[in-house]
Amino acid sequence: MERIHDVAIAGGGIGGLTLALALANRGVSVTVLEQASTYKPIYRGEYLQPRSQEIFDELGIGATIEAVTVPVYVSRAGTEDDGVLMDVDTRSFGALQGRNGFHRDIHGAVLAPLRRLSNVEVRMGARVVDVKRESETWSIEMPHSSLRARILVGADGRGSRVRERLGIVASERRYPGAVLAVTVQLDDEPEACSENLLGTHESGLFFPLPNRKARLYLLVHEDERYAWIKSQPDRGLSHVRDRLRALFPRLASAVARIGSLSEFQNIPAYHLTTDRWVVDHAALIGDAIHCVHPALGQGMNLAIADAAELARVLAHALEAGRTDAETLREYESARRSHVTYIQKDGDRSREMLLRRDRMTVALRNRVFRNGARAQHAMRRMHAVYAGVEAPPSPLEETLLSLALVFPSFDRVLAR
Ligand SMILES: Cc1cc2nc3c(=O)[nH]c(=O)nc-3n(C[C@H](O)[C@H](O)[C@H](O)COP(=O)(O)OP(=O)(O)OC[C@H]3O[C@@H](n4cnc5c(N)ncnc54)[C@H](O)[C@@H]3O)c2cc1C
Repeated sequence: MERIHDVAIAGGGIGGLTLALALANRGVSVTVLEQASTYKPIYRGEYLQPRSQEIFDELGIGATIEAVTVPVYVSRAGTEDDGVLMDVDTRSFGALQGRNGFHRDIHGAVLAPLRRLSNVEVRMGARVVDVKRESETWSIEMPHSSLRARILVGADGRGSRVRERLGIVASERRYPGAVLAVTVQLDDEPEACSENLLGTHESGLFFPLPNRKARLYLLVHEDERYAWIKSQPDRGLSHVRDRLRALFPRLASAVARIGSLSEFQNIPAYHLTTDRWVVDHAALIGDAIHCVHPALGQGMNLAIADAAELARVLAHALEAGRTDAETLREYESARRSHVTYIQKDGDRSREMLLRRDRMTVALRNRVFRNGARAQHAMRRMHAVYAGVEAPPSPLEETLLSLALVFPSFDRVLAR
């Protein structure tokens, strides 16, 4: 008789693998179906928010993750013209430090224990092409084989096939311009800081990596400018290097070592939402249901937190023998408000950063200059971004914004 698997996960990216490990640790047997035949050393989100570190600790891989990442405890922001205006040391907020590492190492740290567990199978070269509900199980079709499972999870990224086959409606928009990312070799150990510097046509982001490396991002704000950069490889390269040098003068020698435009990865930047995250006996996680702008450093973290929450809900649901949409919706209810807040706040901050009218620029620079003094507002906002506290209500949001502009108002939040 054909074997019926408990849970089949389509997609062995960071979300799918974290879910597999979390379910396996709860005694559920899992099969991961990954379309790639081998995992390539890709860049796909490097920044780990504190909540992701907590989850990895709970899954027993905290020490491995720590060994392949570096701490990021200072958060800096400013403009190309004025330099760094805000310099916040998150150590003053307690355990709210991020970590940064190569995606392949973080992904590899989750994959390694899965290979040793008897209740997990990771099938490579297994592209899911169709799914059907038949006789109380899912029939999952791949080009040359099929598999039956009680529960199906779509962790198959932005272009999710599972989402499409389940009839879940996605709405997607692309952010204009381009997000160009490059890894540079540094002369010295990088500082444990992230840096976000705004320029008129391009902005820059800096994140430290292990082994005296760093990841630099050049956010090109307009499509036309990126089209020009791409169309002239030599002039495009010198333009990009000039911009990075202007934004990060201390990294001039590292930037000079970038030899070709092809060293830059153009990261897809999309906003995506869906009408539902669950249907009867199936759920989606990660980029399959929500995409955020990569500059927020959240995409990988949202997928990890979805996985941890879905594992908790699914394990109970399987034990109780109730896996209908109503039961699985507990997962969606627990996660959706956080994801929606990050998506909305990301768009709002992006607009604030890109607008050039005098009032917005003055307000933004005031926040950069004075915001760090609003310690309570800063701590609260970091905790929400870190994924360890619930998003603020609309009233609290207004109070937080007021405190960033007028730090003396911060005392009100302390009460
Ligand atoms: C090139 C790139 C660079 C990125 N860089 C950043 C960044 O710098 N910062 C940031 O915050 N975010 C970044 N992101 C976004 C971040 O990687 C995602 O938010 C995060 O990886 C989401 O995890 P996930 O598991 O949901 O999806 P993914 O990581 O996309 O994993 C989906 C997996 O499903 C597999 N798959 C797809 N279709 C099928 C199918 N039909 N059958 C079987 N398997 C399938 C894919 O091969 C993949 O392994 C980047 C994304 C990309 C694509």
